[in-house]
Parts: sequence; structure tokens; C-alpha cells
Amino acid sequence: MTKIVFSTCPKDCYDTCAMYTHVDDSGRIVRVEGRREHGLTRGFLCNKGQKILDWVYSPDRLKYPMKRKGPKGGGDFERITWKEAMDIIVQNLKRIIKEYGPLSVLPYEYAGHMGLLSRYYPYRFFNKIGASQLEYTICSETGKRALIYHYGTHAGMDPEDIVNSKYVVIWGFNPAWTSLHFFNLIKKSGAKTVVVDPVRSETAERADEHIQLRPGTDSALALGMANYLINNGLYDIEFVEKHTYGFSEYKETIKDYTPERVSSICGIEKSAVEHFAEEYGSTKPAAILIGLGVQRNVNGGEIVRSISLLPALTGNIGIHGGGFFYSSSAYFTVDYDMLKGSTGERRKINMIRLGEALLDEELKPPIKFLFVYNSNPAAICPDLNRVREGLSRDDLFTVVHDLFMTDTAEFADVVLPATSYFETFDVHFTYCGLYVSVNEKAIEPIGESRSNYEVFTELARMMGYNDIIEDPERLTDRVLRSGTGFMKGITLERLREKGFMRLNTPSAPHVAFYDLRFNTPSGKIEFYSRAAEADGLPPIPGYTKVDGDYPLRFITPFHRDLLKSQYFNIRSIYSEEWMVIEINKEDAEARGIKDGDLVKVYNKRGSCTMKAKISSRVKKGVVLSYGIPWPKLVRGGTPNFTTSSAVSDIGGGSTYHTNYVEVEKL
Ligand code: SF4
Repeated sequence: MTKIVFSTCPKDCYDTCAMYTHVDDSGRIVRVEGRREHGLTRGFLCNKGQKILDWVYSPDRLKYPMKRKGPKGGGDFERITWKEAMDIIVQNLKRIIKEYGPLSVLPYEYAGHMGLLSRYYPYRFFNKIGASQLEYTICSETGKRALIYHYGTHAGMDPEDIVNSKYVVIWGFNPAWTSLHFFNLIKKSGAKTVVVDPVRSETAERADEHIQLRPGTDSALALGMANYLINNGLYDIEFVEKHTYGFSEYKETIKDYTPERVSSICGIEKSAVEHFAEEYGSTKPAAILIGLGVQRNVNGGEIVRSISLLPALTGNIGIHGGGFFYSSSAYFTVDYDMLKGSTGERRKINMIRLGEALLDEELKPPIKFLFVYNSNPAAICPDLNRVREGLSRDDLFTVVHDLFMTDTAEFADVVLPATSYFETFDVHFTYCGLYVSVNEKAIEPIGESRSNYEVFTELARMMGYNDIIEDPERLTDRVLRSGTGFMKGITLERLREKGFMRLNTPSAPHVAFYDLRFNTPSGKIEFYSRAAEADGLPPIPGYTKVDGDYPLRFITPFHRDLLKSQYFNIRSIYSEEWMVIEINKEDAEARGIKDGDLVKVYNKRGSCTMKAKISSRVKKGVVLSYGIPWPKLVRGGTPNFTTSSAVSDIGGGSTYHTNYVEVEKL
């Protein structure tokens, strides 16, 4: 008799699918299916979800703990018991804390598993120690802070409200690949769709219009649109007067962004700027979906700020189908400190500058103990040569808890086998939607693998930190009950009845800013942000030109079948496209490159070897590749050997897309 279990896909993906997992009598998963009743999942899973059993039952899963025998990065390990592994870890942890102090310990993790317990419970341990804190800068942070400056929150549209939109701008976002379920809702709306993207993406192919601007010039386009809307009376005067602050300064500041100037900055026709502004300003309700990519630029903050003010200008706020969408995570208002333990302010290490932190001889105390889980920094960090040099340090003690022998694991002193999400209980929020969902344990752990919860509970016990140990179900229930606002009424018991619950919003779909109250200093949407000004930023966003030190701008968005670096090692999912660089015909001809040629992509930081594809997806001056390959599984490096660890203008965010290279035929 097959058992059916509620599951939730915990990957760093917009959709956070609710699933049924079918388990046979032998305790093996035989099928997973997307749940029809879920507002976003709607009964289907993406290709990665459909092939998830190839990942769960991969012969490459780590099955037992190991310790390193050979040099770091060499992959030479020997099997040990869990007791031996934990003893080695605790001995080294105690030794290092005694010698260098707790700040010499650094946890490194991100969204490889987005479950509340898997992600946040380990922080109880590191907070108890008083370890250095990791700054979550790799993805959305820059954009979130940008939105907070003007709206007081980054909680924008309910994705399900998109069905009420008449005009949808998809800005630097490729949901046809990266948020399939959201994309289907957009299509269902019947709205006119306009994609703004330097890449002729899958979404752009299927949109009504595509504005293919130069990478990183998005703020100029947004400011130019705003200027045009104001000059042509296409803005909502009443809304602006009642609900915004600093309009006259904004109007004055952006007055030089004429269609002519924007056309020349962005590399698009003047008429395209005018047409876009006219349509956006005259079609209501209109939504702007800001992708989690535009902010990964040195001027990423100003890009998100500039785009986000367009809905305020046109009165597309507080109405069904109107507004902006970036991330839903701010809706999940629970007491995260309850999960993580008291956080307190301690030394912070920017996660995208791991290489610098590990190699910094001035850092006091130096990082001596690194614990990596839910992440693979030796593949996903920018400027990998530096990261790998740092991970190679003989005086650095590294633990990696993962399902596979990743690149990072090969640098570890001790490797611990991790459970997949089918092997452990957890609860999930999402960054695209207003659902909380449960993930019940469906099968027994593969081999000797253990969950993050189990590993850190055992470590706490061994260190004598019994006060931070708490039953996982009791803890998640307490955290859910701590919820305020729309989280009220969600308990673990109720969640388990159906597997997921929608937040208790006044309407469904929810209207963002339905009460037209804004948590800003003025209580209004601030065109002129006093908070930004106080942080030393321009109070009104502008456009900053970025000059490259190499001729081609190399952008690296995500592929449909990869989740950052996850699945790169799964043969049934593997795609040749992941090691292809797309180059415009003109740029290729100028370099004597033909379709299929092997090329070296390089800059002063490093290089990678890829196969060239002559492509009209990118314009002259831009090259493109997808996904995050594992260096150990390819020859000649990966794009992240060339990407930069420079930080964005707001919040120290990543700048993967501000990367300049040269491409040369091999
Ligand atoms: S990867 Fe995303 S779309 Fe695919 S099953 Fe998981 S949550 Fe759903």
C-alpha cells in the first residue's frame, strides 16, 4: 500500500511547490506530484521536480562521514564513524575558540535548503558560541533595502494578484525558466506583457514586446519613463499628492532623462522609450515584476529604486493587479530570533567576499573554523580563484555538511552526509507567494545521512549547550504561533491537516498596501528617501554609468534546469548548454569565432573554457552563459572564476552581472 506524504520543494526557487510524495511498502519514493489545490503549484512540477528521484537516489550521495587524507581540494577521503567525525569537529572547535576566540568561527550557508529548521536552527549553535556572522548579500538583499527606502517594506504584490493585471512589465526576470508557475499565472491574466532584459530570454520570446537594453542601464530607462510620464500628464496627480513625499524634488532631479538621452544610454530607440512609457502610464492596473537579477550589479540598488517608483507615480499602488513584485518574504512575520537564538551584533563577514575574508592577514581574529552547509561556496562565490586559495589554507579547519562531494567538500577536513528534504521534517515560507507549507519526513535517511537539525543538536549536546536544544516540532509550532499580521492563526497542527495554508490576508488575492499606509519616515511613499540620505546615498535614485576594463559584458543568469549550482552533478538533468557562452555574430566574427568553437573567456581575475554559440539572444558587446557549473566537473574553469567580488551600491550585495571579459578562440 502506497503512503502519501505532504512535501514541499525547499530549493532556492521562486515557486516552493507543494507536493504529494508517494512511498511504497519498502519505504522507497515511487512518485512525486505537484498539488492541484495549491494556488501557485497547480498540479505540476518543473523538470527538476519531476526528476527529483534521480537526485534523492543518486549513486553519488554521500552515505557516511569522512575525513580528509590528502591535500585540500584533492578529494582524497577516508570513511569514519559519526562519533569520530563529531569528536574531531568538537576538539578542533574547542581548540580554535580557546586560541583565537569565537569570532574565528564562521558558519557559511544560504538557501540550498530553505526550510526553517534546516536554515535557521544551526544559528542557535553559532549564536551560542558567539561566532562571526555571515552577511546574506549574495542575492536579494540589495533590492530589498532599495525598496524599503521608498516604501518602508519590500512586501509587494501577491503573485496570485497578477491575474488582475492588464499590463505586466517583466523587468530583468525570466519566469518562463525560473518561476514556471508564476509565468503561467501571468499568461493566464491575458495582460499585455513587456519584457525589459538585455537577453532575448525565453520569457522575452513569449512576451508581446521586448526592450533589449544594455546591461546595467535599467535605472536610466526607469527615470526616463518617469520623466516622460510627468511631462505628458500620464501620472496620477491625485495619488501622488495624497500618498507620496518629495515629488517636486524627484521631478526636478530626473528632468534630464529625456527619451533621446535614455535612448543613447540604453541602446534602444527613442520611440521605444516613449511607447513604453505611454502604454504603462495609460493602462491600469499595471504590474512591474522586478527580477532577482537586476540588483546583482554595482548599481543594482539604484536600478531597483528607480524601477520601484514607477507604480507610485502612476497610482498603481493599493489596487488589485497593480504594483511591484520583488520578493514575498517580508510577509512571513515570525520571530526568527526564536529559531536562531539571540542574534546580537557581532563581526560580520560578507558572504560574497569569502575569498578576501579567508586571505585577509589583517583580519583579527582570522577565520580558523569554517562550517559550510546548504551552500557550495567553491562553486557559487564570485572570484573563485581567491575563494579556493582561501579554502586551501592549511590552518583553516573546514567542515562541510552536504548530500554530495561538492567542490567545497573537497576542501574540507571533515565531510558529513546530509539528508535530502524527503528524509526530514521542516516548515517552509516562500519568496513568491503567501503560503506556509509543511514538509513531512517521507523516507528514512539514505545511508548514515543526518539533517542539519540532528547535526547541530548533537554538537550542542557535546559542547554542553543543552539550553539551546529543542524538539523540532515544538519549536516550529512556537515560531508559527509567534507570527503577527497575516501570519496569525497558523499553527503546526492546522498546517499538517492540509499541508499548506495561505496567509490570512484581508482578501485573496491580497492587495499590497491595501490600507495605503507606508512604514517610511513620512508615512508616505518617498520619492525622496530621507532614510537613503541618512545612509549617505542619494535621496532620489539616479543612473551611474559603469565602465568595463574588458570589451565584453558577461552576464550569467540562471538556467531552467539548474538551481544555482544544485543538480549540475545529476546526469539525467545535465545539459550541454551549461558550458556554452552565447556571443553576438558581430563580436564572434571580430574574433574569428565560429559556432561550436572552444573559447577561453578571461579577465584579470581568471578564466574558463566554454563552447561558443553564435546567438541573437545578446546584442553586440554582451556575452551570456547560464547556471553555475561545478569546477570539479568541467575542464578549464567556470564563469565564477571571472566574476567579481566587488559589492553593489546598497547593502554590500553581489555584482555577478557587472563583469567584463575578453573571449578568445582556443
Ligand atoms: S524547483 Fe521550483 S518549480 Fe521545480 S519543483 Fe522545486 S519549487 Fe517547484
